[in-house]
Amino acid sequence: MSQTLLDVKKLENFIGGEWLETGNTTPVNNPATGETVVEVPLSTAEHVNQAVATAKKAQKEWALVPAPQRAEVLLRVGNLMKERKERLSQLLTMENGKVLEEARGEVQEGIDMAFYMAGEGRRLFGHTTPAELNDKFAMSVRSPVGVVGIITPWNFPIAIATWKSFPAIVAGNAVVWKPATETPIMAYELAKIFEEAGLPKGVLNVVFGKGSSVGDAMVHHDDIRVISFTGSNDTGRNIAAECGRQLKKVSLEMGGKNAVIVMDDADLNLAVEGIVWSAFGTSGQRCTACSRVIVHEDVKEELEKRLLAEMEKLTIGNGLDESIKVGPIINKAGLDKIKKYMEIGKNEGAKLLAGGEELTGENFKDGYYFAPTLFTDATPDMRISQEEIFGPVVSLIPVKSFEEAIEVNNGVSYGLSSSIFTRDANRVFQAQRDLDTGIVYVNAGTTGAEIHLPFGGTKGTGNGHRDSGVQALDVFTEWKAVYVDYSGKLQRAQIDVD
Ligand code: NAP
Repeated sequence: MSQTLLDVKKLENFIGGEWLETGNTTPVNNPATGETVVEVPLSTAEHVNQAVATAKKAQKEWALVPAPQRAEVLLRVGNLMKERKERLSQLLTMENGKVLEEARGEVQEGIDMAFYMAGEGRRLFGHTTPAELNDKFAMSVRSPVGVVGIITPWNFPIAIATWKSFPAIVAGNAVVWKPATETPIMAYELAKIFEEAGLPKGVLNVVFGKGSSVGDAMVHHDDIRVISFTGSNDTGRNIAAECGRQLKKVSLEMGGKNAVIVMDDADLNLAVEGIVWSAFGTSGQRCTACSRVIVHEDVKEELEKRLLAEMEKLTIGNGLDESIKVGPIINKAGLDKIKKYMEIGKNEGAKLLAGGEELTGENFKDGYYFAPTLFTDATPDMRISQEEIFGPVVSLIPVKSFEEAIEVNNGVSYGLSSSIFTRDANRVFQAQRDLDTGIVYVNAGTTGAEIHLPFGGTKGTGNGHRDSGVQALDVFTEWKAVYVDYSGKLQRAQIDVD
């Protein structure tokens, strides 16, 4: 199946508009079946040097292309993605495992981002403002930064790349992109689309390979002036430390420990739908996945009952089958981590109500599958309530009041997404004020971001920057203040003012 969808058996780096063979490769396996889908290069620091040198040269000319013309390339990219949506979605399911419906949603997110950022080509707004002296004009404009390095994870292999590369490119930068080794096919397909859309050679470069070699070389490269990273907290912290040493700009989007709050006045059926979708979709492997449910004690038992009934209906298997709702875990390491937390949860005294085990047997042969899992009577300080598990595992934490629910929600080191189910308008507005996450949902689960809003989190989730939305442009541009004095004489600010 893979070879009919994919036109190559081995991927090559895309540098300076050329497809270049690299030597060593490693297989990319479909997590649902264990089958090898493609071979991906294991590039080295030398390939990064080559890509950065090419990008640096190309960027100088690209920055001089008027932004509305740069945006036209993105418009063509969006149209090509739209034409290929179904094929891209199937390939995405094959490399990542998420079910086809979700893969289509992810590709659509990239299409939306292309059209949205194409519009920015005619905005990229700066400011004009009065100057304090006569016959003087003042404004601020955005300038591209130069060569930007993009490092992306396997769980959203195309959407996250578009959140970063599209604003970078429309703003006049050149990009060196290292996709996750587990999911390189979307990078290959997107690079081909950019090539067909007429992006000048060298403006987008893809270097495949491990984080420890390619990613590390990018972080250390003097000519990469921005690193935009999405991935785990440990990797992000190390990257930030190195970028700090070099005074390199770095944007980090990392993990989450996202919660749904269910109040005593909530529509319980709606809450159950929201929890199931955001906890077990993508097998819980979303940075915004719900992994805690903070429930008012008065509705706890009823919520448990309805959740268990809904979880019974989840179909698990290969995401290419349209009837499947929950796909595999990305790899053995991911599966082992989830299994480890089952022991931790039980030892801490949480009660296991459903799941808790790896799925084996004929239907799950050669893939990595884990049963949707529900713990209850968890306390806020337990490790299963504090640490990112990145699997289909939810812990119910009972609370006595709205105030306690907010406190529990905020009592973790992450700050990505939170949600509240309530019918009380006062609580809705208090919650959106007091929840300390970067994203808040009311009467919906913790997932479902739209691309024209800023995406990212507070505390241990990020470092103050945002992906997507107009805010992403701040990562990929420098503000320049410009003063034009047309008085014909020297006017000194703060001094020659009456
Ligand atoms: P990861 O292990 O940190 O990997 C992310 C990327 O960083 C991969 O491309 C990886 O390369 C690369 N990398 C690894 N070590 C590196 C190093 N020393 N220097 C430079 N790059 C390096 O994270 P993951 O397990 O793939 O992704 C899951 C994590 O991402 C979760 O914690 C999830 O919450 C988070 N996430 C956050 C968001 C958000 O927007 N907040 C969105 C999605 C995911 P290789 O894997 O190829 O070696």
